[in-house]
Amino acid sequence: MKIALIAHDGKKADMVHFLSGFKQLLHHADITLCATGTTGTHIEKAGFQVEKLLSGPLGGDAQIAAMAAQKEIAIVVFFRDPLDKHPHEPDVQMLLRLCDVHNIPLATNPATADLIFNGLQLKLHGN
Ligand code: PGA
Repeated sequence: MKIALIAHDGKKADMVHFLSGFKQLLHHADITLCATGTTGTHIEKAGFQVEKLLSGPLGGDAQIAAMAAQKEIAIVVFFRDPLDKHPHEPDVQMLLRLCDVHNIPLATNPATADLIFNGLQLKLHGN
């Protein structure tokens, strides 16, 4: 099961903090992580193994969108910064749209991601 992680610059610290609360779950053998480039570097520094894709503005979100369309992604966690502008907004919209097209769980804030990861934990461990 592959989980895709993306955080806009203003949300990268939130992403690392969030993931740190689920270290045990995310080290499960059945789970692999991928992330856009800079987000991936932050996550790696926090002690996770992660496949790093291109940086978001250079096509990383589009790469994740393509994987989502091919049903290679089980969950997308995308901490967007609604208070900032992004040159790759069309790619962001494409990713959000494809998650809905393919019914892929998508969390755009920590509260939602927390519910999804707790559900995943129940599914994998039954507690
Ligand atoms: P980044 O990309 O992880 O390379 O910063 C995230 C984004 O802005 O979509």
